[in-house]
Amino acid sequence: MTIKGFGMGRKIVVATICSLFVVFALIVIQFYYFKYLLRRHRAMLYGLRTQVAPNVVNSTEPPKLGLDPLVIASLPKFAFKLSTQLDHLGEPVECSVCLTTIVEDAVVRLLPDCNHMFHVECIDMWLWSHTTCPICRTVPEPTGLA
Ligand SMILES: [Zn+2]
Ligand SMILES: [Zn+2]
Repeated sequence: MTIKGFGMGRKIVVATICSLFVVFALIVIQFYYFKYLLRRHRAMLYGLRTQVAPNVVNSTEPPKLGLDPLVIASLPKFAFKLSTQLDHLGEPVECSVCLTTIVEDAVVRLLPDCNHMFHVECIDMWLWSHTTCPICRTVPEPTGLA
């Protein structure tokens, strides 16, 4: 009876210690899991914050390199007429991008702010990587959506 009772008592003590250990282990695991979640959350926030900066740079870099394609497209484009230009300027017009005289009926683009004229493909290519007129460095302003 006493031996049996002692045995039972020991079993209860062992069971209690075991359950206490399990509870303690669960608390420790929960604590570390919470810490892990917190760290992950913070890392995520930090990651987002650090990711935002390069993303902004990446997304703004190509448009910053040159003019907005919409702005380029809004610049006046027409077939070059030597007669009218000779009347206007008194001399043939040279495209400063390819350094070739603009010939009759060549499609040209005029920068309205400085009245400089270039082949449409030359100035479009130029404005892809620059924001200013190749001759006078004027920044072409959008002329309203054409
Ligand atoms: Zn040209
Ligand atoms: Zn110009």
